[in-house]
Amino acid sequence: MPGLVNGHTHTPMALLRGYGEGCNLHDWLFSKIFPAEDKLTAESVYCGAMLAISEMLLNGVTCFADQYFFCEAIAQAVLDTGIKANISRGLQCFDHDYSKSNDDYRLREGESLFKDYHNANDGQIKIWIGPHSVYTCVPKYLQAAAELAGNLGTGLHIHLSETADEVEKCVTIYGTTPIQHCNTLGLFRSVPVLAAHCVHLSEEDYEIIAKAKDIRIVHNPGSNLKLASGIAPLRKLLAQKAKVCLGTDGVASNNDADVLKEIRLAATLAKVRENDPLAVNSWDVLEMATRHGSSSLGFDNAGIIRVGGVADLVVLDICKPNMYPMHDLITNIVYSSNAANITHVFVNGALLVENGKLTRIDLPPLLVKAQKLAKGLTN
Ligand SMILES: [Zn+2]
Repeated sequence: MPGLVNGHTHTPMALLRGYGEGCNLHDWLFSKIFPAEDKLTAESVYCGAMLAISEMLLNGVTCFADQYFFCEAIAQAVLDTGIKANISRGLQCFDHDYSKSNDDYRLREGESLFKDYHNANDGQIKIWIGPHSVYTCVPKYLQAAAELAGNLGTGLHIHLSETADEVEKCVTIYGTTPIQHCNTLGLFRSVPVLAAHCVHLSEEDYEIIAKAKDIRIVHNPGSNLKLASGIAPLRKLLAQKAKVCLGTDGVASNNDADVLKEIRLAATLAKVRENDPLAVNSWDVLEMATRHGSSSLGFDNAGIIRVGGVADLVVLDICKPNMYPMHDLITNIVYSSNAANITHVFVNGALLVENGKLTRIDLPPLLVKAQKLAKGLTN
């Protein structure tokens, strides 16, 4: 089958797997994650990215979208392992006069990352611009990020309407929902936007998504469950022809990077949300994790098996008890398969997983190093 696509993650956060359990999103971010992230270095980011990429490859992921910092280290991990990635330098700015603040450097880092790595190694890497969210970026900064993406001819990757609290605060401060706020600021006018989450949407939000030039929504059911953010309105989004793909979000809030698991969660949660077992069908969800994921991340020619196509492929061993009997293969992949069925993974024709083993990554020393660096971040 085509390779799986993880449409939204923060790979270095693999080092924070299992850290800060028992917090809501706000407390988890501000009292646990952000202080640990302050201690990150290029070395630990590279190690975290390698750990996440190892996990993703073994789970059949051939392409992912990342938003983080020390992005050169992430790009290096991508180049070293052979996986494909859409990488954005995460941007935050709380200063309304941002151009006079020190936060301007993040935008410049995003720009230089684009110049150094966009389409590197024959298109293995795409660089987009990554304003983190409406609650971590002042309006002028969001506009500056959109302007930079437009000037570079690239896209934006942002978290939008993840929690009810985010929407409420945005309405209190700006008088509009996060989607309306970004629309008013012109973010959806000219460049593709990868919008992670979109869990809490108003009727006007749906209209904006339908009319916007190019919004690609990343549904992250596992992370939304773990942080009790809610269940995204998948059926309504699909009914309105919104482009939807799947993501795991960072491992710290999931707590793994298993897209097959997200496929099953997306399919089953949509049914629970709508109280209707026909809410979504297996094929639609599988397409979200494959071809719609590839095109959403800017890899238009992948995600589908065809003569002359790109060989981003996963081989499943279906001669296993969990895949028999086979009334319908797609249904079995969506509801019955798991990573243990994945034997081989190819990216751009290169064999990166062979008989369940990574071909380019020496796992034991990587795990030892990840453990040591992770302890240093959380002490
Ligand atoms: Zn995220």
